[in-house]
Amino acid sequence: MSHELRSPLNAILGFAQLMDTDSPPATPSQKESIDQILHAGWYLLELINEILDLAVIESGKLLLSEESVSLAEVMLECQAMIGPQGKKHGIKLTFPQFDNSYFVRADRTRLKQVLINLLSNAIKYNQPEGTVIVDCAATPERTRISIRDTGAGLPLEKLTQLFQPFNRLGQENSAEEGTGIGLVMSKRLVELMGGVIGVESTVGMGSVFWFELASDTEPYLSMEGEDAAALAEPHVLRGTRLHTLLYVEDNPANLKLVEQIIARYPDIRLMSAVNGNSGIEIARSSQPNVILMDINLPGINGLEALKILHLDPTTTHIPVIAISANAMPLDVERGMKAGFFRYITKPIRVNEFMEALDLALEFAREHSDDDT
Ligand code: MN
Repeated sequence: MSHELRSPLNAILGFAQLMDTDSPPATPSQKESIDQILHAGWYLLELINEILDLAVIESGKLLLSEESVSLAEVMLECQAMIGPQGKKHGIKLTFPQFDNSYFVRADRTRLKQVLINLLSNAIKYNQPEGTVIVDCAATPERTRISIRDTGAGLPLEKLTQLFQPFNRLGQENSAEEGTGIGLVMSKRLVELMGGVIGVESTVGMGSVFWFELASDTEPYLSMEGEDAAALAEPHVLRGTRLHTLLYVEDNPANLKLVEQIIARYPDIRLMSAVNGNSGIEIARSSQPNVILMDINLPGINGLEALKILHLDPTTTHIPVIAISANAMPLDVERGMKAGFFRYITKPIRVNEFMEALDLALEFAREHSDDDT
């Protein structure tokens, strides 16, 4: 369905942009009309994306990848993303000062989606010069994040309708655009991650939207037994050639981990990308020997990225190793069927990881030897 909805919109937005930059330039009144088409078009695209996203969640087909996620990092990213919107509305945003010790069990991309949605609502439905205060409280079991606004607040009868799709609670005629899908999606996502979401509100004072997720600890490199032995071994150079490795991963903690492992191999250079599309671009331009691919990525996922890499004659020969928190046998099977060279599950076991990498480098070397 997504293709059918997006294609006509592509034409509308594409040609409107062409007209916008045409020469001779449009007259002022034409320009005004084009701006209207573009504004409505981009907004419609946003709506379609939201509705499609909700449809995927409702169908139960959403792939969630739960891992240990640093709240400090995610909050910083959200702050950077939402800051301009706050400024535009004249709303003061306050975020907690984290040390790097808050970790939750969550799908990183989806956690960000929930946070951005709640923050964006708190900004949109606030009063002029209002404030938004983000707070965080954790026990060893659960972590609660709350977002307090100074908006109009909601009476009890409206609170009960809050998490229903397309219910904008009388905001239909306000200047703010929205579908009311955001809160429904946030609720579904939080629940899929094993959490709860709720709201408290006082009319005339404002609302507090909160959600709770399971607390987690920092992912660390386990240095016991075989792993420690594997890393303590002298690292034999694999021939004289320098190998390049591309890691496509959106979670900085996982990237750091692999960086630490690879740092012990002076003959391997690591590059990284934070989403599938930039990963594909780097693969095409830099021709790494091996690619490591997270499955759950923002935008296109790792399986889709693999498909694109395999169809492209410039990248089809590069072995791609999946590294994913989706560790069910079915996930692994699906991954291997899709054509991954190996499928490694998180948390990474160093031995298994290095073995797969060695095999992939070997494969890559044989392949390039065939070519020359
Ligand atoms: Mn990921």
